[in-house]
Amino acid sequence: MAAKRRFQTIKGMHDLVDKAPAFAFVEEKAREVFSLFGYREVRTPVVEETELFVRGVGEGSEVVGKQMYSFDDKKGRSLTLRPEGTAPIARAYLQNNWASGPQPVKVFYMGPYFRYERPQEGRYRQFHQIGAELIGDPGPYSDVELLVMLLRFLEELGFEDLEVGLNSVGDVDCRERYSERLREFLEPYRDELGADSRRRLETNPLRILDTKTPRERELLEGAPRLRDVLGGPARDHFQVVRDELEQFGVDFEIDDRLVRGLDYYTRTVFEITSADLGAQNAILGGGRYDGLIAELGGPSVPGIGFAIGQDRLVDLVLKIPGASARLNAEAHRRQPVCVVPIGSSYRGHGMVLAQELRAAGVPAICEFDSLRPLKARLKQAARHRCRWIVLFGEDELVAGTVVLRDFTNSTQETISRDGFAATVKARISA
Ligand code: AMP
Repeated sequence: MAAKRRFQTIKGMHDLVDKAPAFAFVEEKAREVFSLFGYREVRTPVVEETELFVRGVGEGSEVVGKQMYSFDDKKGRSLTLRPEGTAPIARAYLQNNWASGPQPVKVFYMGPYFRYERPQEGRYRQFHQIGAELIGDPGPYSDVELLVMLLRFLEELGFEDLEVGLNSVGDVDCRERYSERLREFLEPYRDELGADSRRRLETNPLRILDTKTPRERELLEGAPRLRDVLGGPARDHFQVVRDELEQFGVDFEIDDRLVRGLDYYTRTVFEITSADLGAQNAILGGGRYDGLIAELGGPSVPGIGFAIGQDRLVDLVLKIPGASARLNAEAHRRQPVCVVPIGSSYRGHGMVLAQELRAAGVPAICEFDSLRPLKARLKQAARHRCRWIVLFGEDELVAGTVVLRDFTNSTQETISRDGFAATVKARISA
């Protein structure tokens, strides 16, 4: 009979195994810090109507144009695996009538997102984001507070010198005015632009600003600047954001070229990058989206938020000595004690001992394979990375004792069966 084919993960999607504890660690930190700022966690479905992203993220965006995992369900409705988190939150805001609750609405979320991109280091087809949104306040202080919260989170993870880029893309009318100027400026150089930028010249000239092509970057040196065409209200808003961030000691750089990839942004936009990440160096991005909720059929309600690329964040966290030491200590704390009953008739008793350890908060596993020689079974315990072994057989049972062996130091002691869990707990935390 032919061997059956085995399965692999889908290209660009990965099993999280060794990195799973670091994923959990940053998630816990996010919960802790974001709730200090009055944010509550929400979870939205992984699948939404395709139209939500077409309208919410924008047809001109790369994400909608090229990267969505869309499919028809059995009734022929077009559905999409969510490529980003803000449009679903805006949908949830309207659907659940969050407008009638306390304002502004402050939520955070985390989970998997999907984009059909060319996989490479730091760029996946299933990736993970941790995001937060503040909906219902148009004022600049919300922008500042959101950024302060974000930086607090990153600081608590142990990050020190991150590059915070800040810009304002203005209101819709400023953007239109600017797009027109940029188009006029670039038109004479059309032939020198790459295919992508030539296309964007028609569809979304703003996006040309974040080109990576050296020649295009050179051309853009002399381009008109967005900040010079900002209307009064957008300019004032940006000024307050900058002044207040300085007040709070936030180190940032104004980056005239920062426009972000999704169409819904207005006014404040930001990105945090790390030189340690290589080509895909953006850890996170965010900004204000004052037109999004109206675009989705709701009233005109402003919002601001960010999305952190969790996969990239974790890669960086693992390089921070303090953070990885904490993770190792945690892994160490979770190493189970291995209970090894000697003789097949004591397996049930082994389970009782393991349960007593667990009841005392000590992780425990049981080695039941009593037919194998003791040496092989101890080896098995070592493979489970158990440092401590609890051994017992007939002799111990009669004497009312168990043997506690320390693998690392190759020592052992006989302890009383009564209250043995407390003794083990004391020894392993000594
Ligand atoms: P965006 O929703 O495009 O603003 O992305 C926010 C953050 O998510 C980026 O700064 C990245 O860190 C992360 N991200 C976006 N797309 C991917 C991807 N395909 N793979 C890994 N991380 C991603």
